[in-house]
Order: sequence, then C-alpha cells, then structure tokens
Amino acid sequence: MTIELLHRHPAASVRTHVVVPLRFHDGFTTTADVYTFDGLADEEEHLLLGLGDWRGALARSAAGGAAPLVRPHSECLTGDVLGSQRCDCGPQLREAVERIAETGGFLLYLRQEGRGIGLYAKLDAYALQDAGLDTYQANLALGRDEDERDYRAAAQMLLAFGADRIRLLSNNPDKAIQLDAYGVAVAERVRTGVHLSQANARYLGAKRDHTAHTLDLGLGTHLFGSDVAGRAS
Ligand SMILES: [Zn+2]
Repeated sequence: MTIELLHRHPAASVRTHVVVPLRFHDGFTTTADVYTFDGLADEEEHLLLGLGDWRGALARSAAGGAAPLVRPHSECLTGDVLGSQRCDCGPQLREAVERIAETGGFLLYLRQEGRGIGLYAKLDAYALQDAGLDTYQANLALGRDEDERDYRAAAQMLLAFGADRIRLLSNNPDKAIQLDAYGVAVAERVRTGVHLSQANARYLGAKRDHTAHTLDLGLGTHLFGSDVAGRAS
C-alpha cells in the first residue's frame, strides 16, 4: 500500500439508476438496484448493486445498528461469465448476491480483472501457472505487481450512499485495510464460504498462504449456507 491511499478522494455522484432483475444459472432470482457514477477516481465503469432492503440497512446503521453487508467483487470474465473452475469468483459472486439480498446491502462490481492486470495478462499468467508458478509468482514474472487492485473507487461509491461503515463480506485482508484508509470503516469482516474444487485448490492455497486470506481448506468443500457463520477476527 502506498501513501497515495491516504490522500483524500473527491466525491463521486450517482449518474444513473436502473432496476435489473437477476436470475442465476441455478434458478436463484433477486432484484438489483444498479447504479452508475460520475467522478470515480480511476474512470472505470464500476457498478454498485443495491440488494435486498439496502435502504433499511443504511437506516439501521445510521441509528447505531448493524452496518450494511458489502462485498467488493472484482470482475472475472472467465469465472463470473464462463464458469471457469480455475478460480472461485463465480461461486463467490453467486453466494454474495444471495447473502447480501437476505440482509440488505451492496455488491460492488469492480472492473479490475485479474487482480488489476487485465484479462489478457491474466490468461498469460494462467499459462505461467501451468508451467509451475503460483498465481502471485506468475504476476511478478509478467512484470506486474502481485495485486494491483485499488479500492478507492469502491469507497467513493459507498460514500456516495452514506455507507461510511460496513460489514465487509470478504476473506481478503487488503480490502479491509484499503477501505478503512479511504474512509469506509469496516465494523466487521464476514467470511465467505470456501468454494474448493480440484481445479482451483492450488489457487486457493496460494491466496491463503501468500496474502493471509481467511480460508479453511482443510475441511473440504463447503456449499455456501453450510459454513457461512464463520467470521474473521
Ligand atoms: Zn476468477
């Protein structure tokens, strides 16, 4: 994390709001209030999805109750759209939408593919992983950082809704550190389920061992819902 993280960010403002009914491959349905923004720091086309009773969740938080549940989800074309089993992004997205819809909150869909290095570079990194490097070593071999994601725009979107205090649905400690630095207090970290498969086991192991993701891979595969109560300290 660099010192620029701590610089004050300008405010972002809502540009458009559309209601989008969602239906996932397994039949789960919900409705999202989808927002676009002007003034995002990196000028990417990020989305905020308001799910469930998000207005009520904001009101409860403002009155001193539980903070809204929020997941910053980084775009993954291969995982989110194509169902790639090399990562756990698709199941994490599906899980997050349902859990946030249940309690009210926001999913931030962030256009930072491949931990920020882009789609083609991510696929180049896959080729290096097939040659034996782990997911972080592969990024470095390509001359990129291990993780180039920046959550300033995520914080801007949340602050545009007055969500300056959240419960963060994530196993990634860097997201909590950055959001705090950008002015969004993480009142609690809520772990996601573990979506383990033969194809992504090495990837998840690298996330756990290298960047302190809170992942318990020893217990085998959990369907979300069966092990969603675990919370990181
Ligand atoms: Zn992915």
